[in-house]
Amino acid sequence: MTVAREAFRAACVIGFPVKHSRSPLIHRYWLQKYGIAGDYRREEVRPEDFATFIASLAAHGYVGANVTLPHKEAALRLTEADDRARAVGAANTLWLDDGRLCATNTDVEGFIANLDASAPGWDTRLRHAVVLGAGGSARAVLYGLLERGVGEVRLINRTRANADALRLAFGERVRPADWAEVPEALREVDLLVNTTSLGMAGQPPLEIDIRVLNRSAIVADLVYAPLQTNLLRAAAERGLRAADGLGMLLHQAVRGFSLWFGVTPEVTSELRALVEADLARR
Ligand code: NDP
Repeated sequence: MTVAREAFRAACVIGFPVKHSRSPLIHRYWLQKYGIAGDYRREEVRPEDFATFIASLAAHGYVGANVTLPHKEAALRLTEADDRARAVGAANTLWLDDGRLCATNTDVEGFIANLDASAPGWDTRLRHAVVLGAGGSARAVLYGLLERGVGEVRLINRTRANADALRLAFGERVRPADWAEVPEALREVDLLVNTTSLGMAGQPPLEIDIRVLNRSAIVADLVYAPLQTNLLRAAAERGLRAADGLGMLLHQAVRGFSLWFGVTPEVTSELRALVEADLARR
């Protein structure tokens, strides 16, 4: 009698450098938890070698990959990317579908799923949001908020031209504003999101006073190093509901795992503790 054995599958994260990536920790946890015969590795690939590498992903033994800095824009150009990736302007998850190299951007669902998990019902009365920052992650956040039906997003950024560009890309529900308008913008807000790198280890602090937020407002910070940013600490002190950057990082990994290994994995407290411990070590 022959016993059917599941085919071994492998995926990887491609970056340059790539040793900082927590993706192997996350995906290997899930591979073990679900008893799947597979692996998830790091691949350090120079920018000049990226196109060749992903064109021969299967020959390298992979069914798919995550893509991190500095390859996310190239990944968009070199694959059959979906609407999300095109709107965000970057792809971070690749998979092979009948020989076609497909791509998406999972930061959108990572951000939204984390809010769903951390602040259930957050979108039931979502009229006004304030988004700080207009970089790559702000594009993912805007896409997700507009898709979930937010009334209006005040988009506040150091460089006004970058916020203006996002209004052009995402439409009239996005209203660019200057930093000087932060205190006034926060008065009416249902959801505040920090997508700047302010507050991240090695970067300047994010200096805003959130005491003007009303009691039902929700705060999200994309920064996950440190885990508890000053913004999240201030939100906790006021008893506001909040969603942190680590939650987004974990939730954005779900789709890739399910595409490559055929199981939709759960973001558990055990996984979170594992990555927290790793962040604390480095
Ligand atoms: P980008 O470099 O694309 O954008 C950075 C943003 O921060 C820009 O809006 C920039 O403004 C602003 N900024 C940077 N320095 C300052 C400063 N000194 N004063 C005011 N504004 C500043 O980065 P990303 O959008 O890719 O990432 C931003 C943060 O989000 C990072 O901390 C990253 O780790 C985190 N992140 C977390 C994810 C998660 O899963 N939790 C996913 C993706 C990102 P300007 O336009 O003026 O330059």
